[in-house]
Amino acid sequence: MNHNKFAGIGMTSQRTRSRLVERLREKGIKEESVLNTIETTPRHLFLDEAMAHRAYEDTALPIGLGQTISQPYIVARMTELLVDSGIMGNILEIGTGCGYQTSILSKVSFQVYTIERLKQLQDKAIERFKSLELDNITYKHADGFLGWQEHAPFDAIIVTASPSNIPEKLVEQLAVGGRMLIPLTVEGGHQELILLQKTEDGMEQMMIEKVNFVPLLQGTVT
Ligand code: SAH
Repeated sequence: MNHNKFAGIGMTSQRTRSRLVERLREKGIKEESVLNTIETTPRHLFLDEAMAHRAYEDTALPIGLGQTISQPYIVARMTELLVDSGIMGNILEIGTGCGYQTSILSKVSFQVYTIERLKQLQDKAIERFKSLELDNITYKHADGFLGWQEHAPFDAIIVTASPSNIPEKLVEQLAVGGRMLIPLTVEGGHQELILLQKTEDGMEQMMIEKVNFVPLLQGTVT
């Protein structure tokens, strides 16, 4: 990756990143390890040049092919909800996209497994992981509905695109005591971020807040 084209942004980005972290604190993010990781992760490197100047705004932005980079507040909130469990061994992420959430997770966990159905986005994300020297990320080009049986059970599963039903395979692949975060499309078409906790006897579910993710698409990968 050519870092030079970002040089201008790089010089000011540390200041704007600190401002973003202040905003996240105001919005209620408390976990210091998460805030610190956001402060030290160059979000502008996850965007195309034309969008990079908006990297430290607290908004979702387009990354091509109809997909988006998640809003920093949502990335922080979801990561905080997982870190709060106290178990950050093996994490499964569905929907690598540009790889920003993946990179944040890689800093606060032992190993991240991430699945993306669009090869073009995945290839760019892999380049970013390499240039940022993140070596605890394992990736796969596949349909995330199926999870990743080979590496199950996972301590945490984070789904960053919205299905209408909770994929059964993902529940099966979650460890007992593990947490899953999933933005579920509910009746009326809006989305609710659900926190699922797998117990010895079943599942506990909690609605966290309304969210707005791209759809989780089932079937053919491209
Ligand atoms: N985690 C990203 C947000 C990704 S947007 C971030 O950090 O900003 C959601 C991604 O999910 C898109 O890249 C989309 O292609 C992918 N996706 C949608 N359906 C999928 C599926 N069934 N399996 C894997 N990835 C999927």
